[in-house]
Amino acid sequence: MKSGQRRILIVEDEEAIATGLRFNLQAEGYDAFVLPDGPSTLSYLDEHPGSLDLVLLDLMLPGMSGYEICRSIRETEDILPIMVLSARTLTEDKAHAFDCGADQYMTKPFAIPELMSRVRNLLARNERLIRIGESKARNQAKENYLFGNVEVDFRQFQVIRDGETHQLTTLEMQLLSYFIDHANDVLSRSRILKDVWDTSVEVSTRTIDNFVMRLRKYIEADPTNPQHLISVRGTGYRFVPDVDG
Ligand code: CA
Repeated sequence: MKSGQRRILIVEDEEAIATGLRFNLQAEGYDAFVLPDGPSTLSYLDEHPGSLDLVLLDLMLPGMSGYEICRSIRETEDILPIMVLSARTLTEDKAHAFDCGADQYMTKPFAIPELMSRVRNLLARNERLIRIGESKARNQAKENYLFGNVEVDFRQFQVIRDGETHQLTTLEMQLLSYFIDHANDVLSRSRILKDVWDTSVEVSTRTIDNFVMRLRKYIEADPTNPQHLISVRGTGYRFVPDVDG
């Protein structure tokens, strides 16, 4: 995953708006820059694929409309967040922008605090998507894992216990996969939080306890008396695959 400053492209032909946006984004610590039209945007993306974290896109631009630019970006960048900033307030314009692959639409004039909040939100969502993609790719490569009466299918996100199939969510699968990778180790809640959850998001350690309770329902014959996913008093948890051994 990319680290450090988030790179934001502003596609805007009105210099005053472009400069104001760039200034405000830079003040928030983003690496923001401006391109004035579609052709320069598309050739930039051609030369620097995957380099952007967010695009702020005007609709009324010389030569090529924002809609066309949006559609072209989507042909190569499937999850790059795109937020349209436009003076057009009609529902049809918004709908068309979304049909072209825009994630958000803000009408001009806009309030900077709301824009910044939307920017943060889109960037965080993008990072979650990238992380989920990476974790899915890792799971695709994993063989099924067997312990006790349980079979874990990493590809299908399933746990099969005594012939009963449980469907797991992405985060549940990530957590179970993490326990399996660290079998027999005592894992503190803070370590689990750091390794499995995104530390940029506020997650209480109680969340881990709730997730462990859910995992126990899938993997334990008696969730109230766990044999595999053991609580370690004052610390966290320990996954024990081989109970008899
Ligand atoms: Ca314009």
